Amino acid sequence: MQQPSLNALTSIVEQIARTGDPRTVMTNIVQRLRDLIRVEVCSLYLCTPDHQHLILAATEGLSPQAVGKAKLKLDEGLVGHIAASLSTLNLGDAPEDDRFVFIPETHEMPYHRFLGVPLIHLRKLVGVLVIQGREREPFSQETEAFLITVASQLAGTLSHLQSQGGWYEKRHARARYRRFPGLKGAPGLGLGKLWLVRPHLSLDQVRAACTAAPEADRAAIRDAIAAVSEELESGSGHLGQHLPGDVSALFNVYQMMLQSPELSDQILARIDAGDNAPWALKQTIGNMAEQFRQADDPYLKARAEDICNIGQRILNQLLSRERPSVEAPDEALILAGELISIADLAEFPLERIHGIICTQGSTLSHTAILANALGIPAVMGVENFQPDQHKGAALIADGHRGECVLNPPPALLAEYRRMIDEEQRFMQGLERLRDQPAVTRDGFQVRLLTNTGLLADATPGLQRGAEGVGLYRSEIPFMIHDSFPTEQEQLTLYRKVLAAYAPRPVSMRTLDIGGDKQLPYFDISESNPYLGWRGIRFTLDNAQLLISQIRAMLRADIGNGNLKLLVPMVSRVDEIQSFRRYVEKAVESLQREGTEVRMPDIGMMIEVPSAMLLLPRLAPFIDFVSIGSNDLTQYLLAVDRNNPRVSALFDHLNPAVLVALEQIRQQCDALSLPVSLCGEMASDPAAVLLLTAMGYDCLSLSAYNIPRIKLLLRSVDRTDLLPLLEQTRRCNSETEVRELVAPLLKQAGWGQEKGPWMEEPVSET
Ligand code: PEP
Ligand code: MG
Repeated sequence: MQQPSLNALTSIVEQIARTGDPRTVMTNIVQRLRDLIRVEVCSLYLCTPDHQHLILAATEGLSPQAVGKAKLKLDEGLVGHIAASLSTLNLGDAPEDDRFVFIPETHEMPYHRFLGVPLIHLRKLVGVLVIQGREREPFSQETEAFLITVASQLAGTLSHLQSQGGWYEKRHARARYRRFPGLKGAPGLGLGKLWLVRPHLSLDQVRAACTAAPEADRAAIRDAIAAVSEELESGSGHLGQHLPGDVSALFNVYQMMLQSPELSDQILARIDAGDNAPWALKQTIGNMAEQFRQADDPYLKARAEDICNIGQRILNQLLSRERPSVEAPDEALILAGELISIADLAEFPLERIHGIICTQGSTLSHTAILANALGIPAVMGVENFQPDQHKGAALIADGHRGECVLNPPPALLAEYRRMIDEEQRFMQGLERLRDQPAVTRDGFQVRLLTNTGLLADATPGLQRGAEGVGLYRSEIPFMIHDSFPTEQEQLTLYRKVLAAYAPRPVSMRTLDIGGDKQLPYFDISESNPYLGWRGIRFTLDNAQLLISQIRAMLRADIGNGNLKLLVPMVSRVDEIQSFRRYVEKAVESLQREGTEVRMPDIGMMIEVPSAMLLLPRLAPFIDFVSIGSNDLTQYLLAVDRNNPRVSALFDHLNPAVLVALEQIRQQCDALSLPVSLCGEMASDPAAVLLLTAMGYDCLSLSAYNIPRIKLLLRSVDRTDLLPLLEQTRRCNSETEVRELVAPLLKQAGWGQEKGPWMEEPVSET
């Protein structure tokens, strides 16, 4: 047999990525493989969700009638044997083997040679891939090696398809109960009807259509062009000298294109010829872009992208006039879509939005940030979910687990309802704690501050008893703007935040973009963004942005007196030295201008391991330290928590992280530096117990979690936590650490009535 190439294999994988429906994808796989290997039969068996059986999910060569029906127990037959032993089986005469079981639906009698390999993804069995032929000799070693390679390449994709369901039990396909994993966007549980939020139409999606009212279309185009021109004008005006030169030049290029008679004349001519406005626009932009692409000059070639960009902006303007107002049904809704914007949310009465599910995005997407601010449970990045296929279905947004549950069966629905009720009652019950200190029974007091980034968070933080803001993520207002905010705009915003909390302290962190935090109007494309232009590195290289931000913060402090500055992603001593110089200079220059600002405390985030190791050398330049446990965990463990392949390895209770935290605490004590912790870890009850034992007495967390963590701290004795910490020092894994802490949490009443959402998932019924 001629050996198939690895290129062919890659093309199979690519094809899979492009196809949507699980059945079609699986059929494609077995067809392509059978052709490639030139063999009579290729079949795919997948595990059922309960992992008790294997079902024939696709075949090329056996009877198609058997698909979805042929079923084997995990140790039954040759296929079951492969699944149970997780090993390859290559036989010359399968029916002669003792383990062979004949499945009548498959009509497989004439086949003798048999080769089967297990499909394993992230250590879990997904199914078994089998090829068969009429000859009576085992398959060659090359074919065996090829099939093993194919299996390892396909296992991840097949595991996704398997988890989507829909590849068996045809009868129940429509209202099938399914769970889709995603990322935690905002905590809480929401239950409601799926309401599809469609993305705004892209230029590519515009289809041919005739105009019904040429005059109205002509006017609409003229207005849309004028509106985009105004948009650009005010965008570049706002930014003024703060824009890097190449970006402001881009605005001029856009304006020139927009004003060119060629653009409007061509569109209007097409409308006169009978096209409607969007279709006339699409064709004109397409033609112009093509002309640019044909140019020899690389500069002109690159303008094709700009003209498409302009076309999209004009289309947005055209459609914003046409977008019908949504008739929000008078019931609980779960909004689902690719990414849901502020504008989308604004179309619904807030009390009807019980949850948000996005098929894209991460924990730090705008949607997640907004949902957190508004207290709406949200799940992000639910990649395998296709909301448009389930309009109106019952849906649960489980923001605690980062999961969405479609068509929950009645028993599960009742359980979720009970959990939602309990959570509401629990939260109401905690209101009485608002003005109580977070103090252990033996008197160790922990200051609980809040993490915020939107003005909308200020009220929930204060309502839930935050003693100040430990982390103001200033990038969030930058992320929801459509251009860099000016110093004046920032001043107005920061002043409101500082005033809301005064006299409580507010640590304002300077712009922390890069990694997964992108600005829509400043593209940073890097092959490894987490190790690239992030945080202080970016702002020091764009000093004009840093200076205007520092000035706005200093000015906002006047009359409030509660500002502290915080620097993100520090990895070198000279970064913090430069930062301090910028602040000193800004103070001096504002004072010279007659503005009586004061020099605030300067704090440093410890997120990069080098900052931890250099702490004694950094100490002379800082007044306090705040540990960003999210990034510190990511960089210590080399794990991206937004990458589903490795996210299970991301745990801030990993012994390496605990060692680092103990070291930082000791060093800060020795250097007399106040230290707090502001990552997700401060919301994890198990972690909070260990941090308290280590002596951390200041935590910053989301407003939502403050009452829960306060209740926990008030129900334990720190003296009981010290031996626990001692024991965790001998643990080799985060699982061991969690097992050690679990009994104490339980004893404190945690994980039962206090936190119903922490119970194990209710399994499929
Ligand atoms: C962190 O890294 O823990 C942190 C608080 O910063 P952010 O989550 O904003 O990156
Ligand atoms: Mg961080």
